[in-house]
Amino acid sequence: MVGNGRESLASVSTIRVRTAASAAREAQTVPTAAAPGFGAETATFHFDGQVDGVAYPSLSPAQQETFKAEFFKEIASLKSWARQQDWSPSVPPALQIFVSDEYKISRSLIPAALDCRGRMEFPAWKAIAGEAAIAHELVHVYFPNGNRLLAEGLAIYLQAKIGGNPSFPNFGRPLHQVARELLRTMVPEFENGRPETLDKIHITELDKIATPSALRLRVGRDLYDNTPVGHAHVYPLAGSFIEFLIETHGTDKLRALFERTPLVPFERNPGSADRWIDTHGLSLADIELQWKTMIANGAP
Ligand SMILES: [Zn+2]
Repeated sequence: MVGNGRESLASVSTIRVRTAASAAREAQTVPTAAAPGFGAETATFHFDGQVDGVAYPSLSPAQQETFKAEFFKEIASLKSWARQQDWSPSVPPALQIFVSDEYKISRSLIPAALDCRGRMEFPAWKAIAGEAAIAHELVHVYFPNGNRLLAEGLAIYLQAKIGGNPSFPNFGRPLHQVARELLRTMVPEFENGRPETLDKIHITELDKIATPSALRLRVGRDLYDNTPVGHAHVYPLAGSFIEFLIETHGTDKLRALFERTPLVPFERNPGSADRWIDTHGLSLADIELQWKTMIANGAP
């Protein structure tokens, strides 16, 4: 995905095109501080696209303006949340936002792992449909993490909590409810009020996955892998688990946990199991059982 996306976008810029298309491809740089953002970083939007190998803007001028307005609204929401939680973001020098049909999925965490933090990619159709998970991707830029469960869980939780639009993976529905419904299909023996019937689910295994590896979860003989179907099952669980952590144990402990596994480009560090005891006073297995108990008891 990275190679393909970048190469085809790079080739677009070398193609001679009509003047109007060239004008539409010009980078549009806006200071996010004025927008407002977190600091002095700038945001540059790229609406490159192509049709039959010829450059063609991915969005209409009006759609571009709508997308930019939504983008800055999401930055303002994230800034406000961070201030309320007293959680200082890690601010990149600049944001480079690409909206193109070259992309099948939205991405910003993998570019960060490849030392391109601030590069954000959105499929054009998602931007047009209002389904782009802008808040989710902004969390990856401002709060990246070397532990993939924490990185994705916080991004999913915040998209659901403060994001301006319903989007993947819960599309506006409560994360715990979505997780509960998915667990019923993933674990047929799951029974209300009996958390032990969820023994096949191992959040402890998800906690061993380092960014940039994908979240994968084995449940008995089934593997929820790095596929759209796999993501649709595992991401709501990650989001529900982080929501439970924040609501039950508080943001301060989660922030301390986050600080134990900073994202360092070209390195892998999901963190050790001990860090849960250091930050939360409980093992991850204990916290996982608390989460399963909440899910099994049907709390909202
Ligand atoms: Zn993500």
